[in-house]
Amino acid sequence: MSTSLLWFRRDLRLTDNVALHAARASSERVFAVYCTAELERLNARQHSFVSGSLQMLRATLDKHDATLTIADGTQPHALIETARRLGASAVHCSRTYARADRVGEEQARAALQRDGIELHVHRGDMIHEPQATAELKQAPGDGYRVFPPYLAAWRSLDPALPVAQTLPNGRDERPGPIPEPGTATVPAPGETAASAALDKFTTARAADYAVNAPYPARDGTSNLAPYLRFGCISPRVVYQTLARRMSWSWTLASERASMSLFVRQLALRDFFTQLAYFVPALHDDALQEKMRSFPWSEDRAHLEAWREGRTGYPLVDAAMRQLRAQGLVHQRAAICAASFCCFDLGLDWRLGRRVWMEEHVAADDALCDGNWQWLAGVGPDQAAYPRIYNPEKQARQFDAQAVYVRHWVPELKKLPTSAALAPWRVDHQHQIELGFFTPKQYPRPIVDREKTAREFLARYRAFASEPARTKH
Ligand SMILES: Cc1cc2nc3c(=O)[nH]c(=O)nc-3n(C[C@H](O)[C@H](O)[C@H](O)COP(=O)(O)OP(=O)(O)OC[C@H]3O[C@@H](n4cnc5c(N)ncnc54)[C@H](O)[C@@H]3O)c2cc1C
Repeated sequence: MSTSLLWFRRDLRLTDNVALHAARASSERVFAVYCTAELERLNARQHSFVSGSLQMLRATLDKHDATLTIADGTQPHALIETARRLGASAVHCSRTYARADRVGEEQARAALQRDGIELHVHRGDMIHEPQATAELKQAPGDGYRVFPPYLAAWRSLDPALPVAQTLPNGRDERPGPIPEPGTATVPAPGETAASAALDKFTTARAADYAVNAPYPARDGTSNLAPYLRFGCISPRVVYQTLARRMSWSWTLASERASMSLFVRQLALRDFFTQLAYFVPALHDDALQEKMRSFPWSEDRAHLEAWREGRTGYPLVDAAMRQLRAQGLVHQRAAICAASFCCFDLGLDWRLGRRVWMEEHVAADDALCDGNWQWLAGVGPDQAAYPRIYNPEKQARQFDAQAVYVRHWVPELKKLPTSAALAPWRVDHQHQIELGFFTPKQYPRPIVDREKTAREFLARYRAFASEPARTKH
């Protein structure tokens, strides 16, 4: 009887799992395996989320008389050991695109080959894989460095249709325990929760996405990030669900535009993934060569105040407190917090990225590197100067009633709206009456951001205009 393994990594689902489908098509018996070594590179929240997703997956497989084997130990030995024990002659997995995953994949391939076991790698978690869009590029070089032409190429391609739900059919008598999920707060894990999130979004929010998404207090986005990160849902399924709704004759033009904006976000996800695929050095170095030796600050006190949400700028602090409490952060608030970190505090974008990687439940090297570089003005953005976001103006525009900042910064609850958005503007007498700015209360701004942002821009301009030869 031909036997193979389905090696789960960041594709924890049964629907549109191309590798699983191929394994079933080519072998009589397919065992599902997850290697615990994958967990070592994740933060505590991600560990919880993945453990929970594995529990769900195992429960589903149990109902169908199949098992999910947990292979404990170092890689690739744990995988090979499991393949040997279960008598598999082939291993199937979904392609990954980040540098570290690809290295692991190649090590596994070489080691499996030595045992006469073949590794088959199948379409991964992108709507269009890096090579597909790269082939449309007119200028020489691998992949795209800039988003607008990438988006045009991406939109011109037809995504592969999702494949139907498939189940492994191997029953392992020694499947091993699933690692404990820990106590971190995470969204409901697993494929069923992912489908429910997609249903909720498409039926209740997608039509108004363009209107609501920029406002942090409205909960107008899909909340799909962790599910996409760990493959509890396929991006092609998300795309097809939206595309179907967009094609209905009764969908209004404004609704179609909203959904199209959402689809653009999926393209942005693919863009950053292909960028990391073609430019793996992006993880350590700025994409823009001229910015590689820019003198960023590493001020520990500023970094800690920013990380803890105690900068004295409410929108920034609300974003950081949401990140630390939920492992999620609204995109607009995230942009303001990242901009404040890089420009108002002048901190190295890699320090900010590290905080994201440690706290975010959807933390992903490619998306985190790409977004941080973009925001720091050293990555794939064509703007001549960095876009510095003023947190007070952004708060007045996107959280005009201070609902979001009051929720995440309870010290501001008692203040009238205008003061909650910019507490340093409250006059001194009121500050004293409100017990404000005392050690236990909300802090004064740690910097005068008008001044520090102006100084940063001057430094940036001077640096960017230096002749290239003076930089190392
Ligand atoms: C500094 C910074 C760091 C970020 N790091 C990550 C990260 O590590 N992992 C991550 O998943 N997202 C990251 N993002 C993108 C974004 O914040 C989240 O994907 C989004 O807020 C998730 O909420 P949602 O699922 O409701 O998004 P929606 O608005 O519903 O978007 C749908 C999906 O599109 C993708 N998407 C949306 N915006 C972006 C974007 N800017 N870049 C790439 N993909 C996007 C995500 O997969 C998201 O789930 C980062 C953004 C910033 C500003």
